[in-house]
Amino acid sequence: MIPLPPEFETVEAKLRARLITGHEASQAIFVARRRLGPPWHWKSWKAARKQVLGSACETCGAGKEAILYVQHTVRLPKISTYKELAKSDLAGRGVQPVDYSSIRQQMYAIRAAEEPEERDCCPKCSSLSIQYRKKAAAWICNSKSTGQYCAHVFTVPAKMAALTADQKKSIRRKKHQTWRNTILNRHNDWMRNAMLAWIGEMRVYLSLQHTKTLCKRCAFLEDMTDHKPCRLCGFAYPKTEQICPDCEQPDSDQRIIG
Ligand SMILES: [Zn+2]
Ligand SMILES: [Zn+2]
Ligand SMILES: [Zn+2]
Repeated sequence: MIPLPPEFETVEAKLRARLITGHEASQAIFVARRRLGPPWHWKSWKAARKQVLGSACETCGAGKEAILYVQHTVRLPKISTYKELAKSDLAGRGVQPVDYSSIRQQMYAIRAAEEPEERDCCPKCSSLSIQYRKKAAAWICNSKSTGQYCAHVFTVPAKMAALTADQKKSIRRKKHQTWRNTILNRHNDWMRNAMLAWIGEMRVYLSLQHTKTLCKRCAFLEDMTDHKPCRLCGFAYPKTEQICPDCEQPDSDQRIIG
């Protein structure tokens, strides 16, 4: 009835495709909800409300003369509920946690696969932070790895095998991808399960299948008290009682209007 907001749809699709983690999904939903506000503030809610609103109160039968509301018979799904459920569900199933030693091995292999190049260095301290000065037609070493500037001046640099800046960048990128792949496919991402379950329940909630039409008074009694109105005389008495203490009308599903 009310479509799921596009922001929620996107998060769900990305979660299913394992493009984002549960935590990233949770953050995206948080931002979207803050922007959208509660469903009853949405434009789509107002349009859908007109379609499901009945012509009489389903509890007391009050009709046109009453102010009628669409009342959910289920609560707005709370994310915290689904987090707790997903956590305890995972705990019960003994899912494999992330294998850090395997990740470490992959990281090491990425570094090992990169062949260091022959680079210029300081002949005195082997530092790579050397600089050619045109005026002096000589190199100077800028290294202060020992705490003091090396400042060695030379005309022919020594050579050493070392990674270039581009190689280091490429290693960083590959390591990041490895980590990303791991967390996107981890089996113990309970937040992922929680967000998928919550979005699913929101879809049900927004379908407005679980709603009824109530008058203002009955909606108030149902929301704020544990009382119900007598269908015959309207006297409010506890939900746990079966007979109206005022007019002795038994409470039944058969509505009495008149
Ligand atoms: Zn009513
Ligand atoms: Zn040096
Ligand atoms: Zn009564």
